[in-house]
Amino acid sequence: MKYYSTNKKAPLATLHEAVVKGLAPDRGLYIPEVIKPLPQSFFEHIEDMSFQEIAFEVAKSFFGEDVEENALKKIVYDTLSFDVPAVKVEDNIYALELFHGPTLAFKDVGARFMARLLQYFVRQEGKEEVNVLVATSGDTGSAVANGFLGVDGIHVYVLYPKGKVSKIQESQFTTLGQNITALEVDGVFDDCQALVKSAFMDKDLNAHMKLTSANSINVARFLPQAFYYFYAYAQMKKKGLADNLVVCVPSGNFGNICAGLFGWKAGLPIKRFIAANNANDIFYNYLKTGEYHPQPSKQTLANAMDVGDPSNFARIYDLFGGSHKAITDLISGATYSDDNIRTTLRDCYERTGYVLDPHGACGYQALKDGLQPGETGVFLETAHPAKFKEKVDAILGTDIAIPERLAAFMRGQKQMTEMPNDFQAFKQFLMKQ
Ligand SMILES: *Cc1c(COP(=O)(O)O)cnc(C)c1O
Repeated sequence: MKYYSTNKKAPLATLHEAVVKGLAPDRGLYIPEVIKPLPQSFFEHIEDMSFQEIAFEVAKSFFGEDVEENALKKIVYDTLSFDVPAVKVEDNIYALELFHGPTLAFKDVGARFMARLLQYFVRQEGKEEVNVLVATSGDTGSAVANGFLGVDGIHVYVLYPKGKVSKIQESQFTTLGQNITALEVDGVFDDCQALVKSAFMDKDLNAHMKLTSANSINVARFLPQAFYYFYAYAQMKKKGLADNLVVCVPSGNFGNICAGLFGWKAGLPIKRFIAANNANDIFYNYLKTGEYHPQPSKQTLANAMDVGDPSNFARIYDLFGGSHKAITDLISGATYSDDNIRTTLRDCYERTGYVLDPHGACGYQALKDGLQPGETGVFLETAHPAKFKEKVDAILGTDIAIPERLAAFMRGQKQMTEMPNDFQAFKQFLMKQ
């Protein structure tokens, strides 16, 4: 399968090249040239298949031309070592809980899949180690670090801003050791990002070591997220509730919903999608007006969705041939302020006992507001509420339990290297590795 760039000015790439490069040379995002429809027989029996079995069928359709079948099966089964159950919150509304993985958020799926796929390609090339540089404001660093943990042949450097990352998040990438190095930068997130970008452009560094990125624009991170949309459908079909299925996705960079849309293109029978936003309403306004105007991001309670220029918009736009009508026929939008999020958390908890996290709250509320008679809604619960314990407890007056996996991170020994906000210092550090 060849991959083209959304900017259409770069040569076609193989999957191997697209995964190693991340961004295309014309700064566009890679998209598979063909999305093969899955056979009808697959959907007829999907409710009797396990998550891993379903995902393997979908993976063969997306990646089967480029990855040897047994290796692909191993990658899929290793990635999906945890369940993503569809849990009933109230009549007609289900939460697809994507937070039972290592760092309790959905990014674990794409991060682990990418780690194993990159390892597969690195092994084909020979012995040289690959180095992943990732700048993080919190969640991406923890998902990538845990996804790549113990994957031989790959070393990960996580750059994070000193004092700007929550203790819970920090513990998830500073306590790991092995092939994960945490670098505490004396600066803000944008400084970390700038250091990483400069490293990718530096001739000496690139001659010294093989560098790659692991951000969410990488096809190997976003596309595997399609797996759980198929599994959500299977679970709802088993309950006899799959006929008019609406899937609602709390969205920031739009990688998650984009994966669902690729699943839909491959034949997944979802009736329509809702993109739920916090106060960052750029996509919402695009749906309303047909015009896309990036904005500086606004800080909200659902901070993993604080994105003012969602990178995967380019993929969605391309997938529908740039047609505003085609996009609005399938996708509607919603936008919620922090006050809305607080009210939703309280209302849902008081009526149903279900504890939402601030991101999932946007998804839940969008279904409450937008579901039509006869439809069943599934919203993606993108993170465990304990990841945002302070906020959630303050809003609900609760003391929610911290899952053992999270508590174990917090007990770990913090190991990190302090790094001034200075490219020469960062470069010297890497040149010594
Ligand atoms: C990353 C993230 C999102 C947004 O996902 P996108 O793919 O960027 O749209 C939503 N919720 C949580 C908890 C996240 O970590």
